[in-house]
Amino acid sequence: MAKPAIHYSIKPSHPEAHLFTITCRIDKAAPQGQQFQLPNWIPGSYMIRDFAKNIISFKAMDSNGTQLKHKKLNKSCWQVDPCQSALIIQYEVYAWDLSVRSAHLDTTHGFFNGTSTFLAVVGQEQNPCSIDIQKSDGSHYDNWRVATSLEPLESTQYSFGLYQADNYDDLIDHPVEMGTFDVGTFYINNIQHNIVLTGKHRGDIPRLCEDLKVICQTHADFFGELPDIKHYLFLTMVVGEGYGGLEHRSSTSLLCSRNDLPIKDQEQTSEYRNFLGLCSHEYFHTWNVKRIKPEVYTPYNLNEEVYTEQLWAFEGITSYYDELALVRSKVITEEQYLEMLGKTITRVLRSNGRFKQTVAESSFDTWTRFYKQDESAPNNIVSYYAKGSLIALGLDFTIRKATNNKKSLDDVMQVLWSNYGKKGIGVPERMIETIASEIAGEDLNNFFTDFLYGTKDLPLTDYFNSVGIGLHSYLSDSVDNTGGVKNKFEKGKVKAISIGARVVNNPLGAKLTHVFDDGVIQKAGLSAGDIIVAVDNIQVTKNNFEKMLQSFPLGSKISVHAFRRDELMLFSLQVIPAKEDTFYLEVMDNQKNQMLNNRNQWLKLS
Ligand SMILES: [Zn+2]
Repeated sequence: MAKPAIHYSIKPSHPEAHLFTITCRIDKAAPQGQQFQLPNWIPGSYMIRDFAKNIISFKAMDSNGTQLKHKKLNKSCWQVDPCQSALIIQYEVYAWDLSVRSAHLDTTHGFFNGTSTFLAVVGQEQNPCSIDIQKSDGSHYDNWRVATSLEPLESTQYSFGLYQADNYDDLIDHPVEMGTFDVGTFYINNIQHNIVLTGKHRGDIPRLCEDLKVICQTHADFFGELPDIKHYLFLTMVVGEGYGGLEHRSSTSLLCSRNDLPIKDQEQTSEYRNFLGLCSHEYFHTWNVKRIKPEVYTPYNLNEEVYTEQLWAFEGITSYYDELALVRSKVITEEQYLEMLGKTITRVLRSNGRFKQTVAESSFDTWTRFYKQDESAPNNIVSYYAKGSLIALGLDFTIRKATNNKKSLDDVMQVLWSNYGKKGIGVPERMIETIASEIAGEDLNNFFTDFLYGTKDLPLTDYFNSVGIGLHSYLSDSVDNTGGVKNKFEKGKVKAISIGARVVNNPLGAKLTHVFDDGVIQKAGLSAGDIIVAVDNIQVTKNNFEKMLQSFPLGSKISVHAFRRDELMLFSLQVIPAKEDTFYLEVMDNQKNQMLNNRNQWLKLS
């Protein structure tokens, strides 16, 4: 192929100062002066992040090296004076954000998303480009390699050198990792899949590959085929404490804790199951949101907020299938799946925000609310992930019931894939509801009015009873009990009171981070940010605060001393019983054949 008319190079020029240096050469710049634009947000993470704030220097020159004048037009757009020859710009990006959303560089590794590093050549976004990924100077970096799903041009897998992209949209959808890393490989439908792990860890990579293989195959079989990809990459940064994932067209960036990884010959932990759930989630996105995507994202406008009420379908449905695929692929047991589901139900039904915001509103306002959660979030907003996944479950069960198990949400997803995703056609607002009604053979408008555009709770008990599973609840003994499992205390033996708040340790005492509506803490007048130092004149910490309150008889009034900012304040707190807000699921003892059959169809147990 001819050399692309846009050529980028990126070099970790000062890893110790967290600086990448990027140059971009354009053969034909705009005659009236070329503009360059950096995205203000990254697809998949719906918040204005203003990545351009990390561009700390910028210069422009012609092909002779003569400097050209430039000016900024707004926070993320530069304009360079007209240039007769090829135009070259050079700029530095400060990279010190350890997340999957931007860029991170030090002397141990480098990671970047194109949305943080590559300025778009305005007007030439459709043109192909080449990218020279360069090694840092010095022998310290001699054993560094490169991992990316970018297409090699004059490079081989894992090497520095030339890569290429079809256009700007393609360029910014392949994150890049560089450093010394471990690699695992497996194949799905003859397409190479790799997991790359950076950071200190002792994870069992063969076991991870074995589990990922069956999960990925379950998704590929679900949609009937892989999307058009040449290979797929799970780019994983392993740290002490961390969690995150971001989907891309043929890769995903993951951030996990080293405790999430499986250890050779040791039993499967719930942390590992959650990590597999994260991998499953991001892989399902390869179809759902990367290709089956809202019409308003086709193409993306990365300069400003883009609004849709449909994120329940792209994140909620994905969240539903990420865990369902684990049990369908038999990587986890049915019991473990029900535990995960019980936790989601507990999370949703504990939050009062579900009565104040609809899931459609949560999606629309994600830019300023879901992605900018403050101390009031549990009281005032609902998650389109968590409640969205329950809506997906409800929709699945509703279609199964309406069609006597002949159809399900699986069919809705397959139609979305073949009619929209595969063809590159954006999904219009509310189209998923129309398709679901067609597949169910009945009008599902009331379902969506109640649960998506309204704040009603889903009839979960009925859904689960139809598959021979009971939904149970109990008074929680602790906010740290996140549900999913049976209560361990005997009924009537332990007095459960809920503190109605989330608490963290603080050098002075127990610091309140979230105060729930109608809980004892809120009723007493305490607020998020307050540091409780004493209960009944005895010093408290996070560890003994809950137990201390539980030692008082119900109804008693206790003195609580707390600092609000620098003022010591006295509150009177009345001990009230906990709410029955902790849920778990259990297979029923006496179940009819029909229930068993329904469950087998749903979980694909046999
Ligand atoms: Zn997601």
